[in-house]
Amino acid sequence: MPVKRRIKAITFDLDNTLWNTNDVILAAENALYSWLKEHATRLTDRFNPNDLRAQRLALIKRKPDLSHQISQLRIESLKLSLIEVGYNKSESGKLSTLAFDFFYAERQKVKPFPQVEKTLATLKKHYHIGSVTNGNANLTMVGLDKYFDFSLSAEQVGANKPSSKIFGAALHSANCEKHELIHVGDHPIDDIIGAKDFGFHTIWVNYAMNEWDLEEKPTQEVKQFNDLISAITTIETNLDNAY
Ligand SMILES: [Mg+2]
Repeated sequence: MPVKRRIKAITFDLDNTLWNTNDVILAAENALYSWLKEHATRLTDRFNPNDLRAQRLALIKRKPDLSHQISQLRIESLKLSLIEVGYNKSESGKLSTLAFDFFYAERQKVKPFPQVEKTLATLKKHYHIGSVTNGNANLTMVGLDKYFDFSLSAEQVGANKPSSKIFGAALHSANCEKHELIHVGDHPIDDIIGAKDFGFHTIWVNYAMNEWDLEEKPTQEVKQFNDLISAITTIETNLDNAY
């Protein structure tokens, strides 16, 4: 008799779950600053990378909707800074778009953790696989798109994790019941509490070996990506035993 799978779909957070992100973003911002030194000297004469970062944060405060449109946020913030240092509107528009395209390509230079590709290939044979990110990683540019049946970002959906809106969109794409989906991610609130409150099973990837200090707990926890398949099997087995 074929195995009855209780779980139909698995969704993944991307940044800091499938790869380390922070160093890559920092490197991309530095590379962008070098690019700007060449193409927008008036801007770099006046502002350093920290200034540009502070300007983005200030813009989110003025326009909170941009917090889930992080690509647009970078473009708009840069455009305003370019205007401030004397570029006209049209130059600023063009430069900010070109600068973002440069940053975006650099930002995709992430290196998936060693077991990620092999694990995804195995999981794809049995489950519907999706990604749910607040960021702007591009799975095609990263080279992992062939393992994913669907990809959702806060920018597309118009809401960040932990909002139920983005997990609702994931459920719709996964085309299964809430209790048939496991969400995997590193962020205690955005990934684990958000997905759990929505009704999904959850696996917390805890590479930093932090203590879990919230009242609601993840369904399973892994300390390395390698342990993911056995955590999924444990969830399936526990569900089987509950029947
Ligand atoms: Mg993450």
